[in-house]
Amino acid sequence: MQYFSTNRRSPSVDFREATLLGQPGDKGLYFPEQIPQLPVGLLTGLHDMANDEIAYRVIRPYVRDAIEEASLRTICRETVDFEFPLVKITKDIWTLELFHGPTLAFKDVGARFMSRCLRYLTSDKKTVVIVATSGDTGGAVAAGFHGVDGVEVVILYPKGKVSRVQELQLTTLGGNVTAVEVAGVFDDCQAMAKQALADAEIQDRVFLTSANSINIARWLPQQFYYLFALKQWEGDPPVFSVPSGNFGNICAGLLAHASGMPAAGFIAACNANAIVPDFLRTGRYKPQPAIATLSNAMDVGAPSNFVRLIEILGDQVPSIRKTLAAVSISDEQTIATMKDVFDGTGYVLDPHGAVGFKALADSGERGIFLETAHPVKFDPVKEVLGTFGEVPPSVAVLEGKTKHAIEIGVDYNAMREIILSRV
Ligand SMILES: *Cc1c(COP(=O)(O)O)cnc(C)c1O
Repeated sequence: MQYFSTNRRSPSVDFREATLLGQPGDKGLYFPEQIPQLPVGLLTGLHDMANDEIAYRVIRPYVRDAIEEASLRTICRETVDFEFPLVKITKDIWTLELFHGPTLAFKDVGARFMSRCLRYLTSDKKTVVIVATSGDTGGAVAAGFHGVDGVEVVILYPKGKVSRVQELQLTTLGGNVTAVEVAGVFDDCQAMAKQALADAEIQDRVFLTSANSINIARWLPQQFYYLFALKQWEGDPPVFSVPSGNFGNICAGLLAHASGMPAAGFIAACNANAIVPDFLRTGRYKPQPAIATLSNAMDVGAPSNFVRLIEILGDQVPSIRKTLAAVSISDEQTIATMKDVFDGTGYVLDPHGAVGFKALADSGERGIFLETAHPVKFDPVKEVLGTFGEVPPSVAVLEGKTKHAIEIGVDYNAMREIILSRV
């Protein structure tokens, strides 16, 4: 499989190059030259198939000879090595719980797959993975790469702007994971990571790459769990409601659908950052500065996967709307939804899941929303509901650990020293 750049200036590359490069030089995104069709046997045999087998069959055509069969099977098995339960909440609404992985968020799937692919694909040059995070990404990437030989991970996070559990997940692994606490905001972290990636002197000494969500090795495996949901589903195909920020997760579902996966449609459930809902209403795509909300992992004003959405569904709004709806849910609605669902059913939603639930409930359709992270990762849940619900044992383990982070200001040279000291 070859991948072209959505900006169509950089050359096409195979799975290996696309994974190592992350982003093409022309600043587009990599996208597969053909969308493969899911094997017929996969869809008819779904109910009895093991998750790692489903994962392998979905990803095989995207990887081709870049990774040989036995290794790809191992990578798939390790990637989906936890539960993906479909839980009924109301008469018409189910949730696919994506928070049973090591850092309690769906990003574990992409991060685990990518880390294992990188380990397989990199040569002897020392690899440093740099990632700026506003919370969930950093933990998933850190856990995904923790203990992977020959790879160092440097994580930048904004001081005081991530939740307690998220900070513990970032700062207590040690080993090949270095957490850098920046006295600034997420955009400062992101800017420093970008500057490092463009720093020729660093690139000379190490293979520096980013692990952000646009990398195909993080994006493509997110298709897996849509099929895990269908495996547990009975009746006519569901609508999928996906809490969306950068639109990687929902575009993975749309890609699986374009490959033949049944679905009655998709809803992009957004918070106040309503760029895509506005686009589907007005036909104009207007990125905006991000607005801070309760569902902060979706506070994105310029969704990076928007170009992939257009590659999959085309650029004609009436035709896009046959498959995709998009709605914006306010913080007030999010809180009201969390309370209503808790009072009515006892189910604890996190703010992101609440946005997904509300968008689906308002549509009146029968379907599934993705619960993208465990409530315990978001401190406001306890303020709103008085409980985090059932807390996984891994959280208690984290609480007994000591935070290790290097504190810096918004200071590129300090950050650069840290990277160079890792090699
Ligand atoms: C990252 C994240 C999202 C948004 O996913 P995208 O792929 O960026 O649209 C939603 N919920 C949670 C909890 C997240 O961590």
